[in-house]
Amino acid sequence: MADDTIFGKILRGDIPCDEVYSDDRCLAFRDIAPQAPVHVLVIPRQPIESLRSAGSGDEALLGHLLLVAARVARQEGLEDFRTVINSGAAAGQTVFHLHVHVIGGRPLDWPPG
Ligand code: 5GP
Repeated sequence: MADDTIFGKILRGDIPCDEVYSDDRCLAFRDIAPQAPVHVLVIPRQPIESLRSAGSGDEALLGHLLLVAARVARQEGLEDFRTVINSGAAAGQTVFHLHVHVIGGRPLDWPPG
């Protein structure tokens, strides 16, 4: 099934993004509405809707996304950073193509809203 989310369009090159990392399994690019000086999204090329719909076959891919998140943070000069995966609308997910937020560059409060 075609991935008609905004991230599917970015992956197909239908709309542009500010890319910071790419490989055969994922793409990382700057969030269009950054919540901190560094706000990057790491997305799988494979269209998984959400973490809650990921399966055991996605284990290696999920690990890869987290390692890429750490690599991107390092690349952006961050020692301390936050990774967030919103799963479902009530948890704040607005784009239903799995993505890892990498956020940093300022002090971050906890708990989040
Ligand atoms: P969610 O709320 O689903 O966890 O995160 C979706 C994120 O995607 C939001 O932070 C939002 O700003 C970002 N976003 C939505 N549309 C676009 C877009 O067209 N380009 C980029 N780079 N980011 C987007």
